[in-house]
Amino acid sequence: MTPPTRPPARPRPRPRTVPVPPPPQALSGRDAARRSLEALALGDAFGERWFPLFRDRSRAYAEIKARITPQESPWHWTDDTAMALAVQQVLDQGGFIDQDRLALCFARTFDADQGRGYGHGMHILLPQLLVEPASWHTLAPTLFDGGSLGNGAAMRVAPLGAWFADDLERVVEQATLSAEVTHAHPQGIAGAVAVAVAAALSARGGLTIEAVHEATPQGPVRDGLARAVDVPFATEPWRASDILGNGQRIRADDTVPFAVWTAARHPDDLEAALWATAEAFGDVDTTCAITGGIVGARTGVEGVPREWLDRREGLG
Ligand SMILES: [Mg+2]
Repeated sequence: MTPPTRPPARPRPRPRTVPVPPPPQALSGRDAARRSLEALALGDAFGERWFPLFRDRSRAYAEIKARITPQESPWHWTDDTAMALAVQQVLDQGGFIDQDRLALCFARTFDADQGRGYGHGMHILLPQLLVEPASWHTLAPTLFDGGSLGNGAAMRVAPLGAWFADDLERVVEQATLSAEVTHAHPQGIAGAVAVAVAAALSARGGLTIEAVHEATPQGPVRDGLARAVDVPFATEPWRASDILGNGQRIRADDTVPFAVWTAARHPDDLEAALWATAEAFGDVDTTCAITGGIVGARTGVEGVPREWLDRREGLG
């Protein structure tokens, strides 16, 4: 009896000899985070120029209206950028937010240069974290009797949103972790979530206030975003800030809705977004840092005037 004919052997796949590149999304997330960070720092440094310390209000009003670039140099960045650099450092090291490490990075950054305009709460908290970083667990929730609801967690978080832009659930999770270290109040955290989601959507080319509102936890920040949805983009920014806030109260709900509104008003034009944000004054380094970080996740800083980049203090 003739044995059955065996089918010819199929060629075996050759072993893979080339390294597998990382997923394109991961690469683009890292790039988008860097773009966002550069723009956040630019917004921070640009916005800072409009404080009365540098020019009185009537001069600032006239120069912003006429779009006259501040001629002094350099434009120093402030605590917004200092803390964003610390967040970036932790992401670069591990690819996620290690909260104890972040606490130590914030504390070291503060200790290295305390003159960056940090808020009162950070002057209390960060020196203690330098001694014992893990004490943020107990110290941050007791700051201001219930945790800070300031805009400090929101002002530094846009690059994180860009980093995780391909996964919005992870954006919310990591933004929350980054906020809790210093801003334990639910509205301090909500501000960070809103800005991180806005930056992620911007990096993906799909920023809408409605989508940011949808992803933001319940409370005054979310309520402010709901009001922002109903403010037409034809509205002058200073009028919009009457409805949405301008950061003057240094609270997340007083800051984030307006900064997200101006970002959504100029999603492809960083320069226009920053001028519009500056028109409202208030906590103008922080509103411009937030708007810059969100828009810059998409645009980078290449489109702004060369002299802006030349005047901005470098990131080291
Ligand atoms: Mg600042």
